[in-house]
Amino acid sequence: MPETLNVIEPATEAVLEEVPRAGTVEIDEAVARARGAFPAWRALAPAARAEHMRSLVTVLEANLDELALLEARNAGKPIGDARGEMGMVVETFRYYAGAPERLLGETIPVSGGQAFTVREPLGVVGLIVPWNFPLTIAAWKLAPAIAAGNTAVLKPAELTPLTAIRFAALALEAGIPEGVINVVAGPGSTAGRHLVEHPDVAKIAFTGSTVVGRDIASRAAATIKRVTLELGGKSANIVFADADLERAAAAAPGGAFGNAGQDCCARSRILVEESALERFMGLLEEHVTAIRVGDPLDPNTEMGPLISAGQRDSVASFLADGDPVAFAGTAPEGPGYWFAPTVLGPVARSSRVAREEVFGPIVAVLPFKDEEDAVALANDTIYGLSGSIWTRDGGRALRVARAVDSGVLSINSNTSVRVATPFGGFKQSGYGRELGPHALDAYTEVKSIYYSTR
Ligand code: NAD
Repeated sequence: MPETLNVIEPATEAVLEEVPRAGTVEIDEAVARARGAFPAWRALAPAARAEHMRSLVTVLEANLDELALLEARNAGKPIGDARGEMGMVVETFRYYAGAPERLLGETIPVSGGQAFTVREPLGVVGLIVPWNFPLTIAAWKLAPAIAAGNTAVLKPAELTPLTAIRFAALALEAGIPEGVINVVAGPGSTAGRHLVEHPDVAKIAFTGSTVVGRDIASRAAATIKRVTLELGGKSANIVFADADLERAAAAAPGGAFGNAGQDCCARSRILVEESALERFMGLLEEHVTAIRVGDPLDPNTEMGPLISAGQRDSVASFLADGDPVAFAGTAPEGPGYWFAPTVLGPVARSSRVAREEVFGPIVAVLPFKDEEDAVALANDTIYGLSGSIWTRDGGRALRVARAVDSGVLSINSNTSVRVATPFGGFKQSGYGRELGPHALDAYTEVKSIYYSTR
């Protein structure tokens, strides 16, 4: 196996950079460094840990443009999107900089003394992230982990290690003590697996495919590791006939084709009430055919290439299934892993594109009869990550939001993620929550202490 990873730029197919390819030895070294740094980091006064995180925020902000450019080139993202994502990285560290001093416990009435709870860090945590939002998803894990007093080993995806590697250097520049944040770029099958099986790692936080999540959960069982899993999705964008159809149609492409559809929250099923289907499709076509697909570094670009040739082949296989193409946008020719945004529909409820995650710019349209049918259809999936509901009927919006088995829902909006609100899945979309105050539960143990007053 070569000692380096060739990092490819998806818009050009050229090698962007070569980075050392880590294996089990490098994971062992990183875990040892994290273990060595843990006692001092944990013992640091909460205010001092918070101050370290604020320094990191300052350094990240100063380097935001550089990080955004690196992410745009390595992941093939439109530069505007990459800037927005790096803004969220900064916001995530800013938000959790407030956490060290707010890790509150409880006092509990008992007889003969006083009982109270405190939150303890877990130790060394292993963070394994995918290629679609490389640094953003890393930040969702790193910020609450280190705020709570843990030290971390982060393994970025093989395809997109560059921003994580740069981040590690910036963290040292910001004065985060050596060993608190360790970045090791290597393959999932060797470096990732070794991290999962390592006896000195207390927890694995994973974002990626359901298949790998299943493997991680079973391997982590051997050492009773804590595990949180953010996995795939097949989210529904439910459009009722009484909705503002113009707004719903304008937002649907962003919900399905944002990040070229390589988004676990992609609303890759658009469920439309039968009576509004024709009008909605007409409006949707105008928006989809206007999407500007092209050079990620052009500020006018709305959608970039897919991450790899393999991903493009996997997405294209859905077209080969023969579902009707309603309409499609355009994409450049030539080098780069391009794919035009495509709307299939109406598709059968049993078709593969209606059931499996595409992770690319193909969306399936499925008509429904009424509210009950819409909820049944939305829930007819092994996944439960995200989704949207479009209606002007407030009661219906809330009824449907409660009835859909999904971790994150938005009403009259196509958004899923906010730093202050919990994010995660129902069913085979995973377990555990990231972001908001809930993420701190995933990086701490509750300890109960009883003090006898006798
Ligand atoms: P993937 O599961 O192939 O890889 C994710 C990470 O796991 C990578 O770092 C990879 O190297 C590592 N890995 C692979 N095999 C491993 C193993 N056996 N042991 C330990 N680590 C291993 O996923 P991907 O292709 O990078 O990303 C796409 C998937 O991620 C999609 O299914 C998508 O839905 C999901 N995703 C989910 C969320 C979410 O928050 N729910 C967010 C983004 C992506």
